[in-house]
Amino acid sequence: MQSSTIIELDRLSLYHGEGTRLELPVPIGALRLGGQAYEPSPDPVRARLDVSRPNRGYAFHLRFALRVEGPCMRCLEAAGIETEVEAREIDQQEAEDEELRSPYVDEQNELDLGRWAHDAAILTLPARILCRADCAGLCPVCGLSLNDSDPADHEHGSAPDPRWAKLDELKLD
Ligand SMILES: [Zn+2]
Ligand SMILES: [Zn+2]
Repeated sequence: MQSSTIIELDRLSLYHGEGTRLELPVPIGALRLGGQAYEPSPDPVRARLDVSRPNRGYAFHLRFALRVEGPCMRCLEAAGIETEVEAREIDQQEAEDEELRSPYVDEQNELDLGRWAHDAAILTLPARILCRADCAGLCPVCGLSLNDSDPADHEHGSAPDPRWAKLDELKLD
């Protein structure tokens, strides 16, 4: 379930040239990456949002720290990383140029901070979340973890049991 945290920009009553800083809890929900779900903690994260109002529209700067936990992408053991999320958006309602419109601000001048924080967290995560940098992954023949196991135990010969062939297709790396 994706929760929403909506900021009504008009209610901030900012004049052009002004800005404000909000510190608020933002629920971001599970993050899907590589077909797996990664749980953020804390959730809600403690976010800091700077909103400023230049001559046109709004500019936003979002920052928060989080830890995510989920399966190692090679061996499926528990893995986790800490990261700092930092993202910026601008929105100029009158602009013709799509680059100047934020996908997180709607016509009612409401900023969907929950969705933005969720997306920004996913973009910040590394492409691979591993239990350790040199994770050896799973043996393609027997499917056991190659971490901390003797390579000699995995000399399965040249004709592996065909029943295990499926594991080759499931191999993550
Ligand atoms: Zn691993
Ligand atoms: Zn093996």
